[in-house]
Amino acid sequence: MKVIIAGAGAMGCRFGSSLFNENEVILVDNWKEHVDKINRTGLSITDDKGTALIPISAKLPENCNEKADLLIIFSKSMQTDSIIQSCLQMITSETKILTLQNGIGNVETLTKWVPVEQLFAGITTYAANLNGPGTVEATGSGIIEIMHITGKRRREAELLIQLFNKSGLKAELSGNVIQSIWEKAAFNAVLNPLCTLTSSTVGQIGAYGIIGDVIRSVLGEIELVAEAEGVDFDKLQVMNVIENVFNPNMSSHHYSSMYHDLQNGRETEIEYLNGAFIKKANQYNIPTPYNTLLYHLIKIAEGNRKIVHEFS
Ligand code: NAD
Repeated sequence: MKVIIAGAGAMGCRFGSSLFNENEVILVDNWKEHVDKINRTGLSITDDKGTALIPISAKLPENCNEKADLLIIFSKSMQTDSIIQSCLQMITSETKILTLQNGIGNVETLTKWVPVEQLFAGITTYAANLNGPGTVEATGSGIIEIMHITGKRRREAELLIQLFNKSGLKAELSGNVIQSIWEKAAFNAVLNPLCTLTSSTVGQIGAYGIIGDVIRSVLGEIELVAEAEGVDFDKLQVMNVIENVFNPNMSSHHYSSMYHDLQNGRETEIEYLNGAFIKKANQYNIPTPYNTLLYHLIKIAEGNRKIVHEFS
């Protein structure tokens, strides 16, 4: 299979390096220094087994005219609209397009540009950090859930799952991908702002231990929005996942990706997490005081980061 990864940052590189052994993989990214480094020295990927240099091909979008059997979108949510436009020449009527991004709104953005019949979506609990040009760290393992966006084309979804499993990435068919995307976004809407605003690791928040009411309130608002939108949402299930992750006895010594984004002066995905839930809530006059507070605090922090960078 020819697999093109659009957005070869932390996750794109992690997935690309796993798929590389069994497939023809091209990493597509608009960060020239990163693309040049990968082509010059190989992609450096570190996991619990050590560091490997993968001789994988990387291209700028404008230099990639290959046609993909599978195009995986792995940009941040605010980049989805621009990245899909710069990759349209890689798509034929046979290309499957798969988003495994976090956040609400990526599927809607992609359907503006590609036929819905070709669109698969999912979530992943794998994680990775981008430590510099051409240098990625795989942080822990996870699972991938995939479904065709309409729930049809089950056979093709199963073939994608086989492709990931063959490459050592654990994948399964999603029973309800929109529910999974909402529940993952709700998880991120709790975990990311709390860890980022307190500069804490996930384990440090868990060790504090008495913020269950705050978490329940954030999720309770999202639950009402989901109900209004007709999206299935299992608040207790999300609460359980969060409690497990915050368990200080688990090895939760990592910071959230939102924390890393702010530390590096980058925009966060807050608009596609708490921000997206607030926007939808406003349409139904559902009050969202907890999500709104987290949203504004992160926006203030984003603004401060930009100022810090302008003067540094
Ligand atoms: P990232 O910022 O590390 O990577 C995104 C890459 O896209 C960057 O290398 C950037 O240069 C590239 N890019 C942006 N706009 C582009 C454009 N127009 N054309 C070409 N390239 C472009 O992000 P990430 O951490 O890999 O996350 C990707 C998605 O996966 C996000 O939605 C994130 O929330 C989700 N996710 C991340 C993790 C994680 O551990 N990092 C885990 C699960 C899900």
